Amino acid sequence: MQLSSVRSAVEQLLLPAECLLCHALLGPRDAARIVCPLCRQRWRAVRPPWYERCGQPEPHFGPCRLCAEWPAALTRVRSAVWLDDGARPAVHGLKYGRLARIADDLAAAMVPLQPSTGGPSFLIPIPLAPKRLRERGYNQSEMLARALARQWRIPVVVDVLVRTRETPTQTALTPATRLANVAGAFGLRIDDCGLRIGNLPIKSAIRNPQFAIALVDDVFTTGATLAEAARALEQAGARRITGVTFARAAIPDFT
Ligand SMILES: [Zn+2]
Ligand SMILES: [Zn+2]
Repeated sequence: MQLSSVRSAVEQLLLPAECLLCHALLGPRDAARIVCPLCRQRWRAVRPPWYERCGQPEPHFGPCRLCAEWPAALTRVRSAVWLDDGARPAVHGLKYGRLARIADDLAAAMVPLQPSTGGPSFLIPIPLAPKRLRERGYNQSEMLARALARQWRIPVVVDVLVRTRETPTQTALTPATRLANVAGAFGLRIDDCGLRIGNLPIKSAIRNPQFAIALVDDVFTTGATLAEAARALEQAGARRITGVTFARAAIPDFT
């Protein structure tokens, strides 16, 4: 190892860390954090009233257009904060910052999303397509799920839910278009994978009504991706699926 790289490693240990988003120095109390308290205060929590199922604020009376087509097993989706100018840099940092520690700060904001009863037994991150995973080097939803799992003290199941095809980037905004875009994009790889939840093989755990599954993603827009992932799990026998995301994008034309 070069002397200069040893020195920089030592400096990283000794110098106070700075906020990944605003570069303000982090005080000793926030040493374990990577986003400073001020930046975290700019995150605007998603609050009720909302549709019970999808967690979307109620625009008016009547059935919700967003979750009407969701598979029956997907019963509850919640997001921690609005994807606005306060939260966007944090999502960007998670996606492109390559710093696993930012996931801990985002997950901390998601901790209250756990229902008071009947919380999830394990987490499944929304997988990336293999090509995108190679380009990025990591799956940001998996980092988020691992961080949240540490705080909720439940297991994370990866490489079971997989993308079966690449999907074009979701640019269209209507819920119907987005659902069509991701239709059939997920599958399950559960035969002989050796994974167990407690003493149950993952295949049985997914089917067991005692176990609730929570899907984890970084951003919720119309829920199309979560719904399609839930559909794949439902086809494998899952009956109780919820979803949690760090941020929720406001849909301008949602009525
Ligand atoms: Zn900051
Ligand atoms: Zn809804």
